This record gives sequence, structure tokens and C-alpha cells, in this order.
Amino acid sequence: MLPESLGSLAAMAGLLGLCVGSFLNVVIYRLPRMMEREWQIQCAELHGEEVSQTDSPLSLAQPRSHCPSCGHMISALENIPVLSYLFLKGRCSSCYQKISLRYPLVEIFTGLLSAYTAWHFGPTLQTVGALLLLWSLIALAAIDVDTQLLPDAITLPLLWLGLAFNTASTYADLSTAVIGAMAGYLSLWTVFWLFKLATGKEGMGYGDFKLLAALGAWLGWTMLPAIILLSSVVGAIVGITLIVVARHGRNIPIPFGPYLAAAGVIALFWGQELTRSYLGLIA
Ligand SMILES: [Zn+2]
Repeated sequence: MLPESLGSLAAMAGLLGLCVGSFLNVVIYRLPRMMEREWQIQCAELHGEEVSQTDSPLSLAQPRSHCPSCGHMISALENIPVLSYLFLKGRCSSCYQKISLRYPLVEIFTGLLSAYTAWHFGPTLQTVGALLLLWSLIALAAIDVDTQLLPDAITLPLLWLGLAFNTASTYADLSTAVIGAMAGYLSLWTVFWLFKLATGKEGMGYGDFKLLAALGAWLGWTMLPAIILLSSVVGAIVGITLIVVARHGRNIPIPFGPYLAAAGVIALFWGQELTRSYLGLIA
């Protein structure tokens, strides 16, 4: 493909990524609240209590986006990725309360990574799948940072989607992908139980197993050692830095999901080269 047309493909993917990033902000904010509300309803039903239906419905589409502090409805003009944030100088147009810098950052990050994906894979099915994988990983990582949860509503469909793409051997052949899903789940499950038996503590959550299973389904079992190694190294460096510099309590859990997600992205783009170079080191 000509560099110019690859460039315009990347630019289009970047613009699409900015808009998707805006939607991911909604998912990151609302999905944990939707899950919490679901749990409250289930608990109430379990205790035989009347479930109050007074609360307004909460879904990804409803209610319309509004300022969390004054309830001001966000107009279409105020909802343009990044530009609206700059135009509003990072404040609500009605109550002048600060808007979190994270919203435009998520949009820019999603846009840049989407553009790079199109540039890296070109006009192929790999680009389509890689975009869906990336967007899901960004949402998962941010939700994990906020709430220490990796919602099944994202991890489980992501696993099946990876297997679906690999029926056409998009990233790995199907048997490598199926073994990847199983080995991904089992490897962290084993670490979890060994850690629990040895220390009595739970070092990670079941969501982490499901996320690694999903990455195994997308990239195949051959990428799992690289993903585990990368996420542990980065996780250890960030974890130690947090404890030493920010005096983050030793017993406060640090989410593992963002490191798995980051390692998954690295493996998606450069996994083959990485695997080849470290196998070269051993041999
Ligand atoms: Zn406001």
C-alpha cells in the first residue's frame, strides 16, 4: 500500500479513535455503577425486600451525559472529543466545576493508539480486530484502576471475539488460540492458589484470570510467557515505585489488570519479534 493512503487510513482510524475514546469514558464511568446497582437489586431480592424502582434507569445510553456536580445536560457542541474540553477550558459551562483531565486524555490516547494500529496492520482484518481489542483493553484498564474490577461484561465477550477472529487465523491459528484461552486462565488461577496457600492473602482477582484467558484467545498460547513476563516486570517496577515514592500502603491492593492490558498491547504489535529475540537469548 502507498504510504499516502496508509497515512490517510491511519488518520481516519485516529479520528474514529477520538470518538470511541469519548464513548469509552462513558463506559468507564457507568459500567461499574450499573454493576453496583445490579448487585444491590440482587441482594434486596435475596433478602426478600421490595426492590425500589424509583431510581431512574442507568445504562450506557441513558440518562444523557450530564455534569456530575450540577446536573447540567451536556450539549452536542460540548461533547466533541478533546476540542470541547479545550474550548470550555476544562470547566463545566454551567457551574464552572473542573472537568477531569482524564476525559480528554483517554480520548487522545485512544485516538493515537487507533491511528498506530491502522498504520501497523494496514487495510486488513487484523486492524479491525486489533481496534476492538485495544478499545476493550483501555476500558478494562481504567475500570480496574478506579474500582479494582474487570467486568465480565467485557472480559467474556472479548474472549469469544478473539476465538472468532482466529477461526480465520487472524492472529494465531484456532488451536493455538483455544489452548491460549485455557492456559491463560489456568496459569494465573494456579499462581492465585499457590500465593493464597503460602501467604493466606489473595494477590489478584478472578477478573485477571479471565483477562489473560482473553489475551490467550486473541494472541495464542505462544504469547502468554511474554505477556506474563512483561506485566510482572512493569507491575513490579510501578508497584515498588508507588510504595517507596508515594508511600502507597504495602497491603493496599494494586490492580494487575492495567499491566496485563499493556503487556497484551505490546504482544499484539511486537510479540513475534519479542518471542524470537528471547528464544534467541536462551538458545
Ligand atoms: Zn456543572
